[in-house]
Amino acid sequence: MTGNCRNGIFTTEDTGLTEENRIHSVLSVSSVVKTSAANSKLETGNSKLMLKAVRGTRDLLPPDTDLWNRVEAKVRDLFARYNFHEIRTPIFEDTQLFSRSVGEDTDIVSKEMFTWEDKARAQSEKAQSLTLRPENTAGVMRAYIEHRLGDKGTLQKLYCMGPQFRRERPQKGRYRQFYQIDAEIIGPPSAGSESPLRDAEVLEMVATLLDEVGLHGWQLQLNSVGCAEDRVRYNQALRDALKPVVHQMCADCQRRAETNPLRVLDCKVPEDQPIIEKLPKISQYLDEPCREHFAAVRTMLDAVGVPYSINERMVRGLDYYTRTTFEFTHGGLGAQSAVLGGGRYDGLSESLDGPKAPGIGFAIGEDRLILALQSQGETAVEKVQAYVAPLGAGMNPHALKLARELRREGVSADIGDESFRLKKSFELAEKGGARFIVIVGENEVAAGQFAVKNLASGEQVQVPRAELAAHLKAAK
Ligand code: ATP
Ligand code: MG
Repeated sequence: MTGNCRNGIFTTEDTGLTEENRIHSVLSVSSVVKTSAANSKLETGNSKLMLKAVRGTRDLLPPDTDLWNRVEAKVRDLFARYNFHEIRTPIFEDTQLFSRSVGEDTDIVSKEMFTWEDKARAQSEKAQSLTLRPENTAGVMRAYIEHRLGDKGTLQKLYCMGPQFRRERPQKGRYRQFYQIDAEIIGPPSAGSESPLRDAEVLEMVATLLDEVGLHGWQLQLNSVGCAEDRVRYNQALRDALKPVVHQMCADCQRRAETNPLRVLDCKVPEDQPIIEKLPKISQYLDEPCREHFAAVRTMLDAVGVPYSINERMVRGLDYYTRTTFEFTHGGLGAQSAVLGGGRYDGLSESLDGPKAPGIGFAIGEDRLILALQSQGETAVEKVQAYVAPLGAGMNPHALKLARELRREGVSADIGDESFRLKKSFELAEKGGARFIVIVGENEVAAGQFAVKNLASGEQVQVPRAELAAHLKAAK
């Protein structure tokens, strides 16, 4: 991908992942401007093309967004109970942040990032390579280091929610712009950041989160990928084991076997799986402290009754993980079954030239969480409580005044228009999913009481103004 900044708008030229992809211009700031030859065609002749959301991106519309918001509200409430606080990091960062933390050989860095060369606008600026964030932990760690949050001497329990970007092959549950809910516990070792209790606390919190948003039947897969020293020995064992068989594997694995053999375990190519199954297991290469750490995490999970299974092949797709790694999966998701993933990253801060700051965190794929909830039949259509129907000329101001008062009293309300006949008001109220219709005619205003009809039961009553809000709120 190439790119530049024209007229203050960041523009990137997406060169396409495969033949099937049309090369098109991607605007990372949403503005409709002509940026390429392809786009300028839009305005020539009669053949106007309809602009559509870019491949791998999608619009989230009501009522789905009601479910998204309900989930996010529940998650924010839960984070507060666990004393997590929000951090918001930029959507684009220096490219090096990701290559140095996530790792050059990972799929994310080697082929999925939206990166562009950002030209300098003034002599005082330097051109630099920028990348739309593909994940959030690296940005959180950069902020932790930049703002010296470790100097506080306490654990930083941080969460964030927002879009991430990876140039992947779009399919159900896999998008190029997707949303994550991240949470991280980072701190100096003196604050207890290395303790297995942190791992267990995070895992217990995720289990509670999934229960509270109403996801049933999730499964937790757990592993330990050891520390840096274990990994040197394990990588060597993998190299040795791969030597006689690697020529039968995919091109990516052949490269990884040389550069970063652990990544071979991440391979999704079906033909490679029988070979991978026979490779040495990480558990045989954990040193005593790592073994004890992992055993302590498991003991605490058993104590709080969070069920899990051990998956020794799970190394996760990012290089910074150490010790505990985990994934929560759900059967309603098909091939993209991971709702969330995470793990410990004890050396991440140092790899970004920061102080020693062990940590553990996770990222929920919010798109997948919503899909999993919807696969269980979850919806969140928030019905509006009242449809205020002005009846007759001059009634609009009265209807607006009543709606204003009701809304201020906590009742959700829509308003019709005085030009509508009563029949049309009823139709629109029902179509819009209102619970009640409130008629605002001259007589009602004069008498200070309103005709209120329950649209589900058909019951109609006269309600004095003073009792109206309570009446509308009480009935379901
Ligand atoms: P996968 O194996 O599914 O590619 P991953 O290991 O790349 O996942 P992480 O980088 O750990 O995933 O991200 C955490 C979570 O974010 C995943 O478990 C998934 O729910 C979600 N996720 C990752 N990539 C995408 C994507 N392209 N579209 C939608 N959700 C995604
Ligand atoms: Mg991935």
